[in-house]
Amino acid sequence: PVQEDPASGFRSMALSPSMLKALALARYHTPSPIQAEFIPKALDGLDVLGQAKTGTGKTAAFGIPLIEMLEARGRGPQAIILAPTRELTQQIVVEIKKLAQNRADVAICGLYGGEPIDRQIRALSQGIDIAVGTPGRVLDHIERHTLYLGDIFHVVLDEADRMLDIGFRPDIERILRKVPTPHQTMLLSATISPEIRTLSHRYMHEPVELNLSTDEPSVETIQQFYISVNHDRKMELLVHLLRRDKPRQCIVFTRTKRGADRLAERLRRTVPGVAAIHGDLAQTARDRVMAGFRAGSIPILVATDVVGRGIDVAGISHVVNYDIPDDPENYVHRIGRTGRMGKDGIAYLFVGPDQGEPLTEIETLINKVIPVHHVEGFEVVRQ
Ligand code: ADP
Ligand code: MG
Repeated sequence: PVQEDPASGFRSMALSPSMLKALALARYHTPSPIQAEFIPKALDGLDVLGQAKTGTGKTAAFGIPLIEMLEARGRGPQAIILAPTRELTQQIVVEIKKLAQNRADVAICGLYGGEPIDRQIRALSQGIDIAVGTPGRVLDHIERHTLYLGDIFHVVLDEADRMLDIGFRPDIERILRKVPTPHQTMLLSATISPEIRTLSHRYMHEPVELNLSTDEPSVETIQQFYISVNHDRKMELLVHLLRRDKPRQCIVFTRTKRGADRLAERLRRTVPGVAAIHGDLAQTARDRVMAGFRAGSIPILVATDVVGRGIDVAGISHVVNYDIPDDPENYVHRIGRTGRMGKDGIAYLFVGPDQGEPLTEIETLINKVIPVHHVEGFEVVRQ
């Protein structure tokens, strides 16, 4: 249903004054479509399964009702949010803290690997309301008896499709079996696969399903182009595009971790402000790189799919698919890094002379023909 007056959107949801104030401070004036649908259902206490494209504000869709529904603190947290990666976990913590900025009584803690567990144990022992974590680290805390799930009443599975892709399903199920019933479950996903359906049938109670994805999974504000290029000239082409477009912030996607390292190393010789980020990097290094990228001192990030997908930085103007993604779904996730919340973005896809087939697979998935972009001097010469 379309809101009569979109500006009144958040006001019509019976949110608390402290939440409305937080939304005003965050400059969230209008709920995004998924938020408009999701928040009222979640506030009713229903199990909700929400599907929407990346960058459409799914975090606040579950975060706002979650904060509003919290009750007096018990022995353990009342809500647990599971997310696929450390970066995503950290981003969710930041977003929830922003939404709870006027709630001194609400404590949030991120539980993820790569940082000393002691700090997390200390935070947990002091009492928290919302735990946000990766399944692995959450299980670790459960086994150490440092995380008590007996008070949980709300469970959120964010980026559920990605968690299943990574192979977290057994971990998720082990955690869910420890949560007392009844409880509310919210599941967020960019795609709804048969596996997601199985998970929701098994662990959700008559879920309300909200599908906000149109048949075109990519965001309309992103201009997409492919560029034909010989494999041995990709690096040169990238440097050319970076110099020509002068992107505010750019993510370059490679297929492998080694590829990301190598490309960043080579790029750094000609272009300033380049860093690589991938799963083999120590957490402190990843944090440092992400902080630099957010602050703008590192405008160019070379990333692999698993880590890159989680990055939500508002100023990303360009995404370069340096290596064509193995899985066409990843193309959608990659380009979703730009064009966030209606901002403009450009996505380039480098296509080698032998890569017509994966290009077609992507076009089939997004139900759209990606126009070619000719760059003088880089024409592919066919033998
Ligand atoms: P998703 O999880 O769907 O990929 P996010 O929750 O990461 O999307 O939100 C994307 C961006 O949009 C974030 O930077 C967030 O702060 C911003 N955002 C979310 N909701 C709103 C809103 N109602 N108005 C303006 N910006 C918003
Ligand atoms: Mg999200």
